[in-house]
Amino acid sequence: MSIKQRTKSLQARSSELSSAFFQLKVLNGQEVVDEKFPSFSNRLQNLGYQTLKPSQIDIFQINIGKLCNQTCAHCHVDAGPDRKEENMSRENLELCLSILKNSNISTVDITGGAPEMNPNFRWFVEECTKLGKKVIDRCNLTIIVANPKYHDLPEFFAKHKVQVVSSLPYFSKTRTDKQRGDGVFEDSIKALKMLNAVGYGKEGTGLELNLVYNPSGAFLPGDQAGLQTEFKRQLKRKFDIDFNQLFCITNLPISRFLEYLLESNNYESYMEKLVEAFNPGTVDGLMCRNTISVGWDGYLYDCDFNQMLELKVTSKDSMHLRDFNENILNNRNIVLNQHCYGCTAGAGSSCGGEIS
Ligand code: SF4
Ligand code: SF4
Repeated sequence: MSIKQRTKSLQARSSELSSAFFQLKVLNGQEVVDEKFPSFSNRLQNLGYQTLKPSQIDIFQINIGKLCNQTCAHCHVDAGPDRKEENMSRENLELCLSILKNSNISTVDITGGAPEMNPNFRWFVEECTKLGKKVIDRCNLTIIVANPKYHDLPEFFAKHKVQVVSSLPYFSKTRTDKQRGDGVFEDSIKALKMLNAVGYGKEGTGLELNLVYNPSGAFLPGDQAGLQTEFKRQLKRKFDIDFNQLFCITNLPISRFLEYLLESNNYESYMEKLVEAFNPGTVDGLMCRNTISVGWDGYLYDCDFNQMLELKVTSKDSMHLRDFNENILNNRNIVLNQHCYGCTAGAGSSCGGEIS
């Protein structure tokens, strides 16, 4: 079944929120930051972190394009079928490979958009595995069944032992389709079955299939262990589907989720929830401390969220793949802003789920 999009990208709708500058203006509106929500940086300073520094770069997360076959309501990338311009070039991917070849970075985490739609995707995965790197693909599942040219992706992933990380907001059609588009749940189940059929999520195969849960509204995710048990039970019972782990991710107040918060009049109450749930125990484990995020045009960021807000790394001499210098980057100050409260709320949130 083809997906019926429920929305278009902010850019296609010429929304003010498609501008990172405008989003930052909302997040930093003085009337709310001073009175209601203390600045995130000050909050860390009060805990003794004058600046937040990386531990060491271990994950190279590349956003290889904003093109996607879906237009999910909560997307922080503002991805969609209309984002055809922003695709990482072969030249920039080659720069990535030469950096990876000369570094001890263990993991290449490929995201998008739907990363598989970049014409260089398979070649790049093959080259990364030749370098002995662990590869993660953030796959939206439906791309596997979207077009015959993607039907063999499960075999391709298995051949290269790619870890597949896939969003599935819930084990029901109503909640999934509401967030991701009509028909997404049905196609996701088909794709999960195809992944299971080649060994993904099955014990003893070493083929890891992890699912991502994120809340469908202005609330924080529940307990990860409890939700994982429930997802496993329901997906097995209803569809005979197996997977390895469930990662719970908090929606950060940026891009299309910020639009939802503003339009539903939930922005202030959601920020209040995030600020109230601030957990100092998550700070040392924040993903920006061991990750470098690369944009489709080769610029470097502390994380995918900072990338979408166009907050580049502070290390002036190493801001692009061409000038990549691990020593300089390991000494940079991480750029913090009000959206960072989303990573430190409750049990914390990262691309690998809960932090503490
Ligand atoms: S959330 Fe993922 S699948 Fe959905 S539009 Fe964004 S990039 Fe595409
Ligand atoms: S959004 Fe999260 S991962 Fe990114 S810089 Fe802020 S705290 Fe770190």
